[in-house]
Amino acid sequence: MAPAARRYDTLAAAKSTVPSQGMVDQAMSITDIFGQNTLTLDTLKARMPKSTWKKLQKTVQEGEKLDAEVADAAAIAMKDWATEKGATHFTHWFQPLTGSTAEKHDSFITPNQGGGAISEFSGKDLIQGEPDASSFPSGGLRATFEARGYTAWDPTSPVFIIENPNGSYLCIPTAFASWKGEALDHKTPLLRSVEALNKSAKRALKLFGVEAVRVTSTVGCEQEYFLIDQEFFYRRPDLMTSGRTLVGAKPPRGQELDDHYFGSIPDRVLSFMLDAERELYKLGIPVKTRHNEVAPSQYEIAPIFEQCNVAADHQQLMMITLRRVAKKYGLECVLHEKPFDGINGSGKHTNWSISTEGGVNLLEPGETPHQNLQFLFFFTAVLHGVYHHQDLLRASIATAANDHRLGANEAPPAIISAYIGEQLEDVVHQLLNGGLKDSMKSGLLGLGTPVLPTLPKHAGDRNRTSPFAFTGNKFEFRAVGSSQSVSFPIVVLNTAVAEGIDVLSERLEKELKKSKLETALGKILRKTLKEIESIIFNGDGYSDEWQVEAEKRGLLNMKTTADALPVLADKKNSKLFSTYKVLNKRELDSRLEILAEQYNTTITIEVDTTESIAKTMVYPAATRYLRNLAQAAEEVKEHGLEPTGTLDMLKTVNNGVNALGEALDGLRKAQEKVPHSNVLKTAKYMQTDVIPAMNAVRDAVDFLERYVSDELWPLPVYREMLFVK
Ligand code: ADP
Ligand code: MG
Repeated sequence: MAPAARRYDTLAAAKSTVPSQGMVDQAMSITDIFGQNTLTLDTLKARMPKSTWKKLQKTVQEGEKLDAEVADAAAIAMKDWATEKGATHFTHWFQPLTGSTAEKHDSFITPNQGGGAISEFSGKDLIQGEPDASSFPSGGLRATFEARGYTAWDPTSPVFIIENPNGSYLCIPTAFASWKGEALDHKTPLLRSVEALNKSAKRALKLFGVEAVRVTSTVGCEQEYFLIDQEFFYRRPDLMTSGRTLVGAKPPRGQELDDHYFGSIPDRVLSFMLDAERELYKLGIPVKTRHNEVAPSQYEIAPIFEQCNVAADHQQLMMITLRRVAKKYGLECVLHEKPFDGINGSGKHTNWSISTEGGVNLLEPGETPHQNLQFLFFFTAVLHGVYHHQDLLRASIATAANDHRLGANEAPPAIISAYIGEQLEDVVHQLLNGGLKDSMKSGLLGLGTPVLPTLPKHAGDRNRTSPFAFTGNKFEFRAVGSSQSVSFPIVVLNTAVAEGIDVLSERLEKELKKSKLETALGKILRKTLKEIESIIFNGDGYSDEWQVEAEKRGLLNMKTTADALPVLADKKNSKLFSTYKVLNKRELDSRLEILAEQYNTTITIEVDTTESIAKTMVYPAATRYLRNLAQAAEEVKEHGLEPTGTLDMLKTVNNGVNALGEALDGLRKAQEKVPHSNVLKTAKYMQTDVIPAMNAVRDAVDFLERYVSDELWPLPVYREMLFVK
């Protein structure tokens, strides 16, 4: 029998040339292209009448309501700018709860019968759109009879143009809500949480004698991703449907040698990066850092931080752009949290801080005692938020994909704690242990040296095991998954910290009636830190001891998504979100419903794909090999020889095939019993029964991969996918 030809060509993939010529216009410098496809406020200002511009500015900077006249003026300016750039269509660009983005295009002009054209874009079109909302998840927020949803312009995030060789269109960032005004998207609660934080922070700043116009959180995300040659990607049904390999044996050489991390960037990958970065610059996304990551074929890109709402929009655009540009280089950008078993997965460290409109970072230890008092206040307020809402922070990063990373010694554990570094821990201890006046070693509060010790900004890298680390002038939420929208984690942080600030403000306001600022603050910080001290952990988050210690401290340890999501139904949490007008009870319930449903759907797709690969690809290959072995044994015997080795192999492969049959049977049985009465019940059952059954199928397949003839094996293997760059 002629050998079956391998279905894919590793050599060709390895040799695939970098299309180096004409991929980017090198004559254009970064300063030329930065923001060329985004309408910055400055450009808009130049194109709008002064009086209307002033009103718009109030909306953007101070959150004031937008009126129709302003919208009309802005619409005209936008349309002119966009059509000058060749855009023919516009779309309200929004973020439904699927975690990705959505758009529906309309043309700026419609041809009429007389052969002319009518312009169709006014303030009304800018402010409000009405996409057909019925196919986006609403988690029960929208009955079918009220399927309409509407989109509303978010003037705080700049509009931008997406280019295609065949035409361009204008994207208008919008919020997406039901007809009753309930949020159907990620942006609406994010904007509301910014408002909540703004209010609380301004109130607190007043106590320190600071009048701020607007306070917001700032965010910078470090995006990790894999690049896989398309030759392999499209021959893996699992990568295509699930974004991760559902089967596949570990390569003989994985990341053991650690030679990839920060190593020099392969040529083709560098070409891709340079191209992607230029595309991002055009959109006004300030990317700054690029490097190889820990796993083979894994990389990272990070922008300079921005106001959280803009950063969240830009984060979505970044994922879209990476995916899109990779294809130009014969690569697929894989954003999944755990594409390869046994190989480090990807996260999205979400750096977060609080800043005034003037750019004063409230989590930056200051240069005067007064600034330091203020810093300690906000710092403690963050810890207060993290301590009281560890459950919500955990739930905000709970996805089927992230379950593979958290606690797997490559990412922080599922226990939420805060790393604050040695120096601040020292400060905290001194605050806790009695009189500020005499025990402050570092001489805080006007005694001795007048300021806090300078904190190294890179303190964070010394402890990569913490899910939430203070890194000198910001916190880094490290447990966020690489493919998820960062909005919900930021919403939780903004809101939890808004509450923390309010709690501290209230305490401080009371104390200030009795004593002056220094003394009053010392008192309330001590009181607060005493309550929340257990959230601080500077040790090794990967260790087994921490699991034990955290339990002793009473910290939550919700290992999987199925354990974490139910907290969204807790009274404490609906109270938090409704008090701060971020999500009402119905909106929060709908998130729970949608997240659980997404989890269940993800697992179902993975199960179906695993089954199909096992039955239609692996089984045929394994049995063909079995037949080859059996025939070989027969033929050897005909020559009067003993085929002992072949018979051993035959037995091993046969055992493997039988094991696969059994595992498939087990998976089918597990699936038959999936309860459908309630999404959380389904999720729990998926976790306890279906996933282990699916893993058993994987084990059987991976066993066979080690024995079946390489020539017959139908799937590209880890070695090929990870080491052809
Ligand atoms: P580190 O070395 O601690 O990771 P970097 O300076 O490399 O720090 O920053 C990592 C990310 O954190 C970048 O995206 C950066 O823009 C972001 N970042 C820095 N300062 C802030 C801040 N004040 N608020 C939010 N993000 C920030
Ligand atoms: Mg970092």
